[in-house]
Amino acid sequence: MQLDRYLSKYAGLSRKSILRLLHVGQIQVDNTVTFSRSHEVNDFSQVHIEGELLSLHKPARYFMMNKPAGILSATKDPEHTTAIELIHEENGSDLHLAGRLDRATTGLLILTNDGKWSRQLTEPLQKIPKTYLVETAYAISPQTPDIFQQGIYFKYENITTSPAEIEIINPTICRLTIYEGRYHQVKRMFAAVGNRVIALHRESMGEIVLDQSLAAGKYRALSQKEIDSIT
Ligand code: URA
Repeated sequence: MQLDRYLSKYAGLSRKSILRLLHVGQIQVDNTVTFSRSHEVNDFSQVHIEGELLSLHKPARYFMMNKPAGILSATKDPEHTTAIELIHEENGSDLHLAGRLDRATTGLLILTNDGKWSRQLTEPLQKIPKTYLVETAYAISPQTPDIFQQGIYFKYENITTSPAEIEIINPTICRLTIYEGRYHQVKRMFAAVGNRVIALHRESMGEIVLDQSLAAGKYRALSQKEIDSIT
């Protein structure tokens, strides 16, 4: 089978994402980077996407964690404890993060070994809502909701963020819902309106809401209903 068909079928990647990943050298077949979408692969090929092995045969597993501050959203790090290291499960190292959080950010972190599912959750084109409780250094200006609704232009990616909703809770605390998960998105949005995020906590991704019974650093398996909510 051709690599582009394989990636679409088993990783759920769009044609555009496949071309981008190939272009930036983020696809490996049998430990060699390939730039060709017509590269021939089969059931025995080892395909890595952004360094993660695409697993076709292992049972799918899904967890939510209440990420504490100070824990890195990564699999391995020489300096800091990573979210994966807090997961005490067999083959925990097969898991990857479905949407990263900054080291200081707390709250809902989802870990899975199902690359196709996690891409549905994080792919900006899917427009899955992500809700954050945000504390800012300065009072949130009355213009902020309108500006966020219109979208903020990110020069580096050359995109304008999707309309975001903000619920002001008090002058420096709000609940913000965004529809992508760009690098440092919430911090960059507030920086664009002259404010600064001083605390950030993710409450939900789509219909998956952080379980209030999970203490910081604890995790649980997702229910079937939560898994099925991402299609
Ligand atoms: N946006 C940010 O700026 N940081 C996060 O951790 C999540 C979203």
